[in-house]
Amino acid sequence: MREARIDLGAIRSNIATLRSAVSPAALMVVVKAEGYGHGAIEAAKAAVDAGTDWLGVVDLAEALALREAGITIPILAWLHGEDADFTAAVAANIDVGVSSLGQLERAAATGGLAQIQIKVDTGLSRNGVEERESAALFERAAAHERAGRVRVRGLWSHLANAGEAEDLEQVRRFTLFVDAARDAGLTPELRHLAATAGALRVPESRFDLVRIGVGVYGLSPFEDASSAELGLRPAMELSAEIISVKRVPAGAGVSYGYAYRTSAETTLALVPLGYADGIPRHASSVAGKTGAADRPGAPVSINGRAYRVCGRVAMDQFVVDVGDDQVRVGDRAILFGDPTTGVPSADDWADAADTINYEIVTRIGPRVTRVFVP
Ligand SMILES: *Cc1c(COP(=O)(O)O)cnc(C)c1O
Repeated sequence: MREARIDLGAIRSNIATLRSAVSPAALMVVVKAEGYGHGAIEAAKAAVDAGTDWLGVVDLAEALALREAGITIPILAWLHGEDADFTAAVAANIDVGVSSLGQLERAAATGGLAQIQIKVDTGLSRNGVEERESAALFERAAAHERAGRVRVRGLWSHLANAGEAEDLEQVRRFTLFVDAARDAGLTPELRHLAATAGALRVPESRFDLVRIGVGVYGLSPFEDASSAELGLRPAMELSAEIISVKRVPAGAGVSYGYAYRTSAETTLALVPLGYADGIPRHASSVAGKTGAADRPGAPVSINGRAYRVCGRVAMDQFVVDVGDDQVRVGDRAILFGDPTTGVPSADDWADAADTINYEIVTRIGPRVTRVFVP
């Protein structure tokens, strides 16, 4: 009854669009976090079909799952705990992102030849080696390389998207790291800095490869540009079957706390999706003391007409007030999808819940069946 329809053709077409936008830079398609909620293996296979050069994930376990699914193209995994063991990753030919001397030593100790990509901190202040520690790390990496324990394939960092001047300052700092790595005797063939936003709007940040996540799924990383304006098609359409319809009088309280009361006799439709499925509780409509909605709920499309969530989103369900329209049990409520087809967008839901489209799709949970459209 709950369905996230994933259009793999949209994913392929988005990759083609992004590839031509960033050419000649190579493309890494990021499929972390279950492919931003779309399904990591299916998204990765679509990306391989569309000719991506690389896949990117956060965890080693995510990378190993892709290998187990038969995916053989290069993969980079970049976020590791203090006690990470890279042996299985190296055996499975997975590149290891290295952000510290400790990680470098563990990568050098697997008994195999570890392909590593050193992450430097150009100003985001997350992981990545800082400038004052980078010389020691580069020298130690060069020594391990000479001894045949590691190959430093890449040097990379991540943008803060804090504005054009800030992004260009990160580009400048990145080139200083590149020079320092060369001076230490390293010859990384992949220098990379940009994610979707930088790849599209900061050409100086493209270097040899760009790591594209949200754009692959057809969503815009910008507040001032829609998917369609970027030539992208949202790949996920989230819907559920309406499982109850009832006629109620004026003044009926709806859902927990009666945050919404009906203003006239009306029809309420029940949608079996809730915050346990990743539907934000912040997308509830909340009424003031007068009963008027202070904040309208997120939009929902039923039989081609637009309605809103009324009252609080609960763990498993929410209610839509459809007025006097004919809505039946079994009709589908579409929460979001490709807005060019007349349904709300993930951006609409992000606005209603005061968040970003990334969070809307990524949080869609495992009770929602993914249906893949080839
Ligand atoms: C998630 C992530 C990306 C992809 O970012 P998008 O904005 O979704 O394109 C790229 N690089 C790193 C390091 C990431 O964590």
